[in-house]
Amino acid sequence: MSYELPILRALMDHFKSMPGIGEKTARRLAFAILYMGSEEVKGFAEVLLRVKEKVRFCAICGNLAESEICGICKDSSRESSLVCVVERPGDLYVFEKTGRFRGRYHVLHGVLSPLDGVGPEKLNLEGLKDRVEREGIEELIIATNPSVEGDTTALYICELLKDCDIKITRPARGIPLGSTLEYIDGNTLSKAIESREPI
Ligand SMILES: [Zn+2]
Repeated sequence: MSYELPILRALMDHFKSMPGIGEKTARRLAFAILYMGSEEVKGFAEVLLRVKEKVRFCAICGNLAESEICGICKDSSRESSLVCVVERPGDLYVFEKTGRFRGRYHVLHGVLSPLDGVGPEKLNLEGLKDRVEREGIEELIIATNPSVEGDTTALYICELLKDCDIKITRPARGIPLGSTLEYIDGNTLSKAIESREPI
């Protein structure tokens, strides 16, 4: 017979459903919540709800935003002729942290993965073609992760835009195959972008 409290189990299961969190960490986090003060827990819960309420996707690039257009798209000092295509908003922050990319972004919200039922209609691709046609984009750097799905998506985008007068590049292979952008240090990433190659 288990004496585990169902409510505590439910909390742990929520933590466990998050990326990179297993049973042990879930238990540690659940206990951390138990030992927090009531006010602190309340603040935490409110932030969780507010994030869901307030954060949405930028109508232009798909980045996270608190209004219709994100801060990067609003910033007129960013180069509009150069756009970096990334899988997730998290990847965009990796680029921003290097502080060396002055173009704009386009966030796909995933990659093509037929085995998982992710086809082009599930990605933010329609908007990309529109942007290329309207915004005078000269170069797209496709910085999807160096995986089979990331490469497939890059080729799909090339095909999608084959009639557009645009240069399409991919970061150099300094990024180890199979690794994700999230775990790459800023220097390696900047170099991979500087020595990008046409697809
Ligand atoms: Zn935006």
